[in-house]
Amino acid sequence: MLQAFRSLVSSELSIVEILPQTDRVVLVARPKSAVSLCPYCGCQTGRVHSHYVRRLADLPWQGRVVEIRLHARRFRCANLQCPRRIFTERLPATVRPKARRTTRLGESQLAIGFAVGGEPGWRLARKLAMPVSGDTLLRMIHSAPLPDFVAPTVVGIDDWAWRR
Ligand SMILES: [Zn+2]
Repeated sequence: MLQAFRSLVSSELSIVEILPQTDRVVLVARPKSAVSLCPYCGCQTGRVHSHYVRRLADLPWQGRVVEIRLHARRFRCANLQCPRRIFTERLPATVRPKARRTTRLGESQLAIGFAVGGEPGWRLARKLAMPVSGDTLLRMIHSAPLPDFVAPTVVGIDDWAWRR
């Protein structure tokens, strides 16, 4: 059964268990890869140092909040010269380092923030089962990259005068 649910999460993860609860759905997941790249020196290693559980808010499912309970790992860098001896594995298609929400959830919440703003945004996000505080929404909006600037193709007479 779980095979069919694999595509619900990023290709970096496997779902090992689905735990429907009254207020949320918990997806227990683990990274697929046996190895990881050191973020400092880029060296590949398969030497697992330790495990820990990382809880990530994810996109809602059937109107319910979704939490990914990720069995995350710390690795030892295989490069003896590397100053970063132990590192947490990176999952760039899933989540940014230290973030508590998946990248795709953050993108949806940011879209809500851009559409309606911080204060109405948290109400709408709660209604859509992707709760986030208004302050966090505002922070996300302010730190979002600006859209690409499109240079005007028509130069008006005022612009022309200004440039002289
Ligand atoms: Zn390293």
